[in-house]
Amino acid sequence: MSARILVVDDVPPNVKLLEAKLSREYYDVVTASDGYQALERAGADAPDIILLDVMMPGMDGFEVCQRLKSDPKTMHIPVVMVTALSDVADRVRGLEAGADDFLTKPVNDVALFARVRSLIRLKMMMDEWRAREHTSGELGVISSQASELMEAADCARVLIVEDSAVDLEKIVETLERDHDQIAASGNCKQALDLALNGDYELVVLSLTLLDEDGLRLLSQIRSHERTRQTPVLLLADDGDLPRIAKGLELGANDYLLKPIDRNELLARARTQIRRKRYQDRLRLNYEQSLSMALTDSLTGLFNRRYLNAHLGRVLQRIEETRKPVSAILFDIDHFKKVNDTHGHMIGDEVLKEVSERIRRNLRNFDMVARFGGEEFIIVMPDAPVDAAALVAERLRLRIADEPFQVSGPAGTLDITVSLGVTTTDDPSIRPEEFIRKADVALYEAKGMGRNRVVIDGMDDLPPDIRAAANMR
Ligand code: GH3
Ligand code: MG
Ligand code: MG
Repeated sequence: MSARILVVDDVPPNVKLLEAKLSREYYDVVTASDGYQALERAGADAPDIILLDVMMPGMDGFEVCQRLKSDPKTMHIPVVMVTALSDVADRVRGLEAGADDFLTKPVNDVALFARVRSLIRLKMMMDEWRAREHTSGELGVISSQASELMEAADCARVLIVEDSAVDLEKIVETLERDHDQIAASGNCKQALDLALNGDYELVVLSLTLLDEDGLRLLSQIRSHERTRQTPVLLLADDGDLPRIAKGLELGANDYLLKPIDRNELLARARTQIRRKRYQDRLRLNYEQSLSMALTDSLTGLFNRRYLNAHLGRVLQRIEETRKPVSAILFDIDHFKKVNDTHGHMIGDEVLKEVSERIRRNLRNFDMVARFGGEEFIIVMPDAPVDAAALVAERLRLRIADEPFQVSGPAGTLDITVSLGVTTTDDPSIRPEEFIRKADVALYEAKGMGRNRVVIDGMDDLPPDIRAAANMR
């Protein structure tokens, strides 16, 4: 699917010209001839990017931009302001109104396509994150109506790569207005070192270094996991459009022409910093909600949803590993009595302590999940039945032999669990069937008087396992 671009201009030949250029590159173009129409089209056509003329009668480009950026429905669409060549003040106003970039008239093809491509790539990435955030929201956990403009843009950690003392001083002075913490180097190797060991929110990278090629550093920055997401703002000479285009292709986020205009630098830096912070927040929300969706909030163990996904994979893997998989399903004995006698809160404390004791006694590739109210399951890849039975018996002892400390007058409680163990080496067994076998064994353990381990299909725990479990 080709990207859709909304072109807004009150002068018909301007619209026609841009439309022709963009259509030739197979973009899908929609047009508007004034601010009101632009807002309407932006809402209705969901464009991926908007090219917006500044000078329009009625509502001018600044106001249109401001409105677009404050409407949750359109705030994520990149806006490129199209301004008169000389008007630096206009550009700054545009960026402050939330515009993502500007182009100057007459529009230069290299700048147009480099800009459009890079902003569309950014938009796709943001769409992806927003979709994920939306899914997390639907899973019933935190979601934020995050807006780029709401993020603070000051006190950022910025790395400057520039070997001209004059330019460097100008950049530092400017960014210090925002209280940014600045590191600088005129040497690419040293700059890469700094970038890889620091946690920068923006790299300002000069393409006019005397002895080195900033583009090489850019591609290194993009190839390292640590710095892949760090915004890079290029600084270049007017005549260097092809290298700027190359830089944007390599993943630079924006560029600025020398001689540096302080206001423009500040506005562009702020835009990148805000966007980075917004993106980081989305990622954090996503990771948090993902882990919240897959873990149990009381015990911190995995929940049943996770178990379902995980167990299927572990069983399938038997095909390659040819190693048996075991499960231990267990349930606290007479837990209802704990609740009835001491209250639900004390019951919760017992559940947490049981979880702690399991965790302490497992290998880290065994997976434990809270299966139900006071039922737990341990899935052990590469574990034959005697190994699993030994773990089960040890766990039984760790719980039964040491009384549980709880708050309130109860002081300590004697807790026991019953455990069912099962093993399979059949990669085609269905997870439900596997769990059902463990459940049958557990049921048997309950029937035989509780506080015991039963292996599926066996009458009693082999004496050597019992003996081994008793040795510390
Ligand atoms: P048995 O030995 O046969 O397992 O008896 P039991 O009393 O443990 O079994 P039953 O299944 O009848 O009772 C389980 C109780 O666990 C009932 C329920 O209120 C309690 N429970 C389930 N989830 C929680 C929880 O999150 N916190 C607390 N405190 N209690 C819970
Ligand atoms: Mg129980
Ligand atoms: Mg139960």
